[in-house]
Amino acid sequence: MRTKTAALSGWGRYPEVDANLARPEQYRELAAWAQQASIARGMGRAYGDAAISARGTTVLTERLDRFLGFDADTGVLRAEAGVTLDAILHAVMAKGWFLPVTPGTRYVTLGGAIAADVHGKNHHHVGSFASCVRAVELFTASGPMTCLPGTPAFNATLGGMGMTGLIGEVEIQLKRIPSSDMLVQHVPAANLRESIALMHAAEHDDEYTVSWIDCLARGSKLGRSVFMRGHHTDGALSAGPREAKIGLPLNVPSVALNRYTVGAFNAFYYRWEGRKTKPFRCGIEPFFYPLDGIKQWHRLYGKPGFVQYQFVVANEAAEACIGDVLKAVSSAGNASFLAVLKRFGAASDGLLSFPIPGMTLALDLPLRAGTLALLDRLDAIVLAHAGRVYLAKDARLSAASVQAMYPRLSEWQAIRRELDPDGLFVSSLGQRLEMAP
Ligand SMILES: Cc1cc2nc3c(=O)[nH]c(=O)nc-3n(C[C@H](O)[C@H](O)[C@H](O)COP(=O)(O)OP(=O)(O)OC[C@H]3O[C@@H](n4cnc5c(N)ncnc54)[C@H](O)[C@@H]3O)c2cc1C
Repeated sequence: MRTKTAALSGWGRYPEVDANLARPEQYRELAAWAQQASIARGMGRAYGDAAISARGTTVLTERLDRFLGFDADTGVLRAEAGVTLDAILHAVMAKGWFLPVTPGTRYVTLGGAIAADVHGKNHHHVGSFASCVRAVELFTASGPMTCLPGTPAFNATLGGMGMTGLIGEVEIQLKRIPSSDMLVQHVPAANLRESIALMHAAEHDDEYTVSWIDCLARGSKLGRSVFMRGHHTDGALSAGPREAKIGLPLNVPSVALNRYTVGAFNAFYYRWEGRKTKPFRCGIEPFFYPLDGIKQWHRLYGKPGFVQYQFVVANEAAEACIGDVLKAVSSAGNASFLAVLKRFGAASDGLLSFPIPGMTLALDLPLRAGTLALLDRLDAIVLAHAGRVYLAKDARLSAASVQAMYPRLSEWQAIRRELDPDGLFVSSLGQRLEMAP
């Protein structure tokens, strides 16, 4: 089994870690990798160090991408864990099926979607990716096992960040759609209170809801946003999402992103998108995957990279907590123009799954002097409101914070010890956060 060493990082390009890499060509090789210290890696879209092995080999799953079965009548799909959501959409959309839950990029694998138990713009009742997973084939050191919903191994693996074993095959239930078109409507909100109220307003209830939020607005405009709602509508079925034609070939110099340039962009975007108050039709790409429209967009933050900070707090704490976070970010002038506010309803049974009922805010912060200290202040605010930070986006949390944020961590650790008694499946993130002692 050949390996090579390379400097590896997540989508945020921070931290960079020297890693031992292997790329199995055949599905059956997974069993051998599960006998030794390893961690699986999908498309590397987790922002920090989640998909890097701390103790052994990082196993790339890109060649484990076979479709194993799809029933076009029932929408049940079986595939290897390296299959991407993009490939699934190309295989099923023309037949009138779609992903019940999809993150903001379709360039993630089934394995990554399960390990992070990803969430999407879905109605708050829908829940996370776990809601559509029917079975997971997991390779542990003692061999392959089938994890079914409701079992301890399933609940430890969904959201378990790859640290229960190597996910091999996956079975999911897709969702029917009438066409590849969306009917979308935007509503501007002048401040944070209005932004949160829109997410709870019965007249704006829709199949999907999300808000873009202006993180640099201050004073009476703090938390202003554009609320975006939409649903699948009648029309034609396409063969799948169109691939981006434009890309960022080079790193953008980090000075290009500052309070003034990003502030001007945010003010323009707020007015431009806020005008679209009448329902309009669009394809699934701009609605679900706006960032996939520019290849390598993470180069926008320059060579030092960036950190995405995503947290969730209960509804009662949302206005105070999000308000404090926005004040800290806007007064630090740390330029973020990709900021998203979302309402969660259902939590999954995943012991480390991120969603809990409440409001979640995700924002990108370029790495520069003071960013890590600012993020520590944000942790303190989130903890004071009994919130939690999303591990798939994390690159710098502390072990103590994770323990306080994830009350079921010790339950997860007990199941993990049974599945992995020799501590083989530990990522760089898991080591940093002392999740697998
Ligand atoms: C632009 C962008 C938008 C995003 N939007 C959202 C969003 O809206 N909602 C959301 O929830 N997330 C979002 N994410 C995060 C992303 O969905 C998750 O990080 C996801 O896990 C990435 O999947 P991947 O295939 O790239 O996995 P990687 O980044 O390679 O790995 C992520 C984790 O999955 C584990 N893993 C991967 N494959 C396997 C396997 N076969 N077996 C066991 N473990 C495995 C890894 O060990 C690691 O812990 C976004 C990321 C980006 C870059």
